[in-house]
Amino acid sequence: MSDWIKFLGTAGARFVVYKQLRASGGIWCHIQERDLIIDPGPGTAYRCHAAKPKLNPEILDAIILTHRHLDHTTEANVMVEAMTRGTFSRRGALFAPADAICRPEPVVFSYLREAVERLGVLHEGGCYSLDGRVGFCTPVRHLHPVETYGLLFDLPYGKIGFIVDTAFFSGLVESYRGADLLVLNLMLFDPPPRPGIQHLDVAGARRLIEGIKPRVTIITHFGMTLLKRNPHLVAQQLQEETGYKVIAARDGMTLDLASLFA
Ligand SMILES: [Zn+2]
Ligand SMILES: [Zn+2]
Repeated sequence: MSDWIKFLGTAGARFVVYKQLRASGGIWCHIQERDLIIDPGPGTAYRCHAAKPKLNPEILDAIILTHRHLDHTTEANVMVEAMTRGTFSRRGALFAPADAICRPEPVVFSYLREAVERLGVLHEGGCYSLDGRVGFCTPVRHLHPVETYGLLFDLPYGKIGFIVDTAFFSGLVESYRGADLLVLNLMLFDPPPRPGIQHLDVAGARRLIEGIKPRVTIITHFGMTLLKRNPHLVAQQLQEETGYKVIAARDGMTLDLASLFA
């Protein structure tokens, strides 16, 4: 097994993204000899080519958009062009909620939606497979202003949950139970300053870790308040409070899944 995931960016939300205080290139997963990218935000192509070793988006087998927000989809079009070799080769899969790829304002151009081999529409409770090799589910619709799904990968050696943008609700614990590795989009330090900001804060992250009990949790997708508190200290605090291992993602960080699941 030589599976790994790489954080091409750890930025969350508007200010951190447009100021590029952290990179915003999404997460590249190399699992079961398949390559997929989750939420390619601004700078993804640049981050792929600047990576050491370089990542070539032409080899992607799938692109997954968890929701239509800018920081998750800006370079979806670029990635589809790469995956389809400039649209000349019909290959690869694009997964996204209907809200992101259907009318009235799709985030992927129509000529690119037509260029992929498979267009998968994500929905609550859906399960999907890439050539029977990589399987993932979208167990629950998240609490977020647009149609949003997290991902739960079921791999021979364990389960990986990606709890992307969402406000906390107890159904998340049920939905992602069994995840051995949990990736949490932790944007806020304190509770949201006003209703309508539907993102996790540290208290919500703590409840998720205590409820789901993953072997390892990675926090990422940091907003301003989280960055100011230093994500590494926040991870340390969560680890001490919950007793479970918590790591703050860094731009370009690669996680070797073999050592993690050993
Ligand atoms: Zn986001
Ligand atoms: Zn969002």
